[in-house]
Amino acid sequence: MARAIPFFEQVNQNFDKAASFTDYSFGLLQQIKICNGVYHMTFPIKRDDGSIETIHAWRAEHSHHKLPTKGGIRYSTLVNEDEVMALAALMTYKCAVVDVPFGGAKGGVQIDTKEYSVNELEHITRRYTYELINKNFIGPGIDVPAPDFGTGEREMAWIFDTYTAMAPEKLEALACVTGKPISQGGVHGRREATGRGVYLGLREACRFAEDMEQLGLTPGLEGKSVAVQGFGNVGYHTAKFLQEGGAIIVGLAEYAGTIYNPRGLDVNQVAEYREENGSILNFPDATTYEDPSRVLEFACDILVPAALENQITGENMHRIQARIIGEAANGPITSEASDFLKKKGVMIIPDIYLNAGGVTVSYFEWLKNLSHVRFGRMGKRFEESVHRSLLYTIERATGRKFPEEEMKRIVQGPGEEDLVNSGLEDTMIVAYNEIRDTQKRWGEAVDLRTAAFINAIHKITRSYTELGIFP
Ligand code: GLU
Repeated sequence: MARAIPFFEQVNQNFDKAASFTDYSFGLLQQIKICNGVYHMTFPIKRDDGSIETIHAWRAEHSHHKLPTKGGIRYSTLVNEDEVMALAALMTYKCAVVDVPFGGAKGGVQIDTKEYSVNELEHITRRYTYELINKNFIGPGIDVPAPDFGTGEREMAWIFDTYTAMAPEKLEALACVTGKPISQGGVHGRREATGRGVYLGLREACRFAEDMEQLGLTPGLEGKSVAVQGFGNVGYHTAKFLQEGGAIIVGLAEYAGTIYNPRGLDVNQVAEYREENGSILNFPDATTYEDPSRVLEFACDILVPAALENQITGENMHRIQARIIGEAANGPITSEASDFLKKKGVMIIPDIYLNAGGVTVSYFEWLKNLSHVRFGRMGKRFEESVHRSLLYTIERATGRKFPEEEMKRIVQGPGEEDLVNSGLEDTMIVAYNEIRDTQKRWGEAVDLRTAAFINAIHKITRSYTELGIFP
């Protein structure tokens, strides 16, 4: 078996491939690629039974070409220094691809969340935040964490609370972390954002008739069969939005196993079933496999790995049947498998574009926190009154009277969630078209991943060349 290539090295291989389609100097490319800083911390926590345990945790800041740096915090036993550096690098390229003005970062705590009580998790999170504050690795203009695998709104609220307790006078403290609960400065739409972004990206990719024809598929999401690996926040929302968009969800998987029904699974019913039973396994009217990787091998049009990295590898790549793979997770396909699938004609929509919805809406949350005002607060009523006078003018001119319900619907000004979703939709559409244009410009030699990296390199480079640091 081939030696497993470290994750960060795999990211750098993708970078190098793309860099060969640019003519920037070696020095400049090195500066972009290198990880600017990584902090490995260890700290003790007292378990509920009184014993003491040492926790290993990291924060990597990959690129300071724009500030703050940005990226999630992951809680998993697989966390290590190589992984956080690779994920931080992916954040740098991701932010560039979708024009979010941040550098990339990522944090991780090496724990299995299922082994700790809520009280212990709170201690770990607060202590981790304290360590970050101590080393200047967190702050609204420095480095802004967010949720990732194993963390969510609850952990972000603890981080925010610890940060403000240490810096009570800071007006902008609310912007020290994103993905917070709404009551703690979160923004509407952030929870769904990554999944919604995956859906919007896939919808855009499937819109082009000539691209779909090459894959032997018809344009549009309607009727496409989809398998999703991962039923956490990202996997659940991705499956839900895809189903609402007309796709048929044939397979779903979480850590304990896979369920399959070629006629389609109702995503909300599966979520309810899990709520009651603690697992999706043995969902009625579906076949259960006690193997979370089985979902990757079903016959389907679109496969969405939405769990962890290194899921599609040299070992299982021959058994992948999907025509399109949408990378909702970061780094789910190894470079070996990626090359193999590309030769087989599979369309891979890369992570640094497809899962960028989360950080895009994190950017909106950060803006909201800095401005201390809810999106839509100033303009909603004004827009409504403009729309209303327009409709009255039409009524007077045509003699037609709008029914009250219709009038209400048309007149309605945008609220925070409407604006967030509209910003996200525009971001995902624009970025996909930029990537597709680059891919078409280079033809066969460049796939969508390399095209996305090429675009990222061009955008990041501007931060240096326009400063006059590099020629
Ligand atoms: N953890 C998410 C990611 O990998 C979100 C990061 C953020 O919102 O800053 O993109």
